[in-house]
Amino acid sequence: MGSAVFKGGIHPDYHKEITASMAVSKMKAPSTVVIPLQQHIGAPCEPLDGIEEGVRVKMGQKIADSSGFVSAPIHASVSGTIKTIGAYNHPLGRPVKAITIESDEQEEWDEKVKPPGNIDDLSPDDLRKIIREAGIVGLGGATFPAHVKLSPPPEKKIDCVVINGAECEPYLTADHRIMLEKPEEIIYGLKLMIKALGAEKGVIGIEENKADAISVMEQAVAGEENITVAPLHTKYPQGAEKMLILVTTGRKVPSGGLPLDIGVVNHNVGTAVAITNAVREGKPLIERVVTITGSGINKPANLLIRVGTLVSDVIEVCGGLKEDTRKLITGGPMMGLAQPNADMPVIKGTSGILALTDQDVYIAESSPCIRCAKCVEACPVQLLPTSIAQAAEHDLFKKAEKLHAMDCFECGCCSYVCPSKIPLTQWIRVAKAEIAKANKK
Ligand code: SF4
Ligand code: SF4
Repeated sequence: MGSAVFKGGIHPDYHKEITASMAVSKMKAPSTVVIPLQQHIGAPCEPLDGIEEGVRVKMGQKIADSSGFVSAPIHASVSGTIKTIGAYNHPLGRPVKAITIESDEQEEWDEKVKPPGNIDDLSPDDLRKIIREAGIVGLGGATFPAHVKLSPPPEKKIDCVVINGAECEPYLTADHRIMLEKPEEIIYGLKLMIKALGAEKGVIGIEENKADAISVMEQAVAGEENITVAPLHTKYPQGAEKMLILVTTGRKVPSGGLPLDIGVVNHNVGTAVAITNAVREGKPLIERVVTITGSGINKPANLLIRVGTLVSDVIEVCGGLKEDTRKLITGGPMMGLAQPNADMPVIKGTSGILALTDQDVYIAESSPCIRCAKCVEACPVQLLPTSIAQAAEHDLFKKAEKLHAMDCFECGCCSYVCPSKIPLTQWIRVAKAEIAKANKK
């Protein structure tokens, strides 16, 4: 086995054995869900007319939407009564408007949730409309609205759909389990994407540390003429868009460009399943698979969780946190977000809940750069992390921009390898925010 290799990257401890063999189980819907109106990249949603406190809603009912093209509607994940509409903690850091629903435990589906008819008769436009109305966003964590990626401008001919089954983030095993348990749905979702885009072929990239998933997916594509499985070296960040496309297709996304510039659209395995559920059954995205893991979790698991379930409720179901838990993260340890507490909801982009104890959290004082160039070697997009970070530290944001800070996708490899423990990624993030602010002006 083996594939093309991208330059740079790292080999962190993966810790996937904690949950890799645990089948996905369905978490019972909680008594209350808090559903933020911003769960995607793009315009936030607003409650629909008639969606107000005291109103009863059904499961799968659309409750918020936006007229922005880059946006995805939001649906009720339980049936019950709207208790409040107002700001609530959000995994991205600052409070966001959210609709809180108290479940009536009836699990009554909205009557609009039904199969959209004969699938073979659906046109590419019909598919895009169904996917948009189902509120599907990229479930790998990027949360880009799925229908937008499936609507390239006419001059951009897409020939290949790349499905991301790399799951290169340490600890996370949600995508691994989805590949083992839902291979047919993944392939079907991929075929729907190929149809929506008028593409010719599809490829599913999977890291070699998931040999069982490679074998299951290879069986699932047997007999498919235009779909292949690409086993990939295990190296972080193999699942990052540019790396994944390079190693599965040999094509390089240009600096500042998009995959569609080179004829490619990529989606995550979980997104493919969500698309299948929407097109076959009319089901909107109201639940997702989340890995709950780390040395601080008493009972690690892969759970199918309703969007809007509080992280604190999830942790309780998983036996609570160990006493010496030091850090709580939503997502993985490399690109996830450290959280001050568990009082926030699981959103469409929550791939993991990670709790780490003292044994896994190493907090070190940083020391001056020793110019070892390890950060440069590790950067998968060949930046000079140390120079960009130094520019940011001295407020030299124009210089940081010239050093291509905006090409940094915050993978964290540079910080990980730095022997001086300099928080390079954090500094580069500061530079990116300042450059974006200046360019907006
Ligand atoms: S500079 Fe950005 S892209 Fe390069 S290693 Fe650091 S975080 Fe990753
Ligand atoms: S890895 Fe750290 S010490 Fe080495 S050059 Fe980069 S910033 Fe300096």
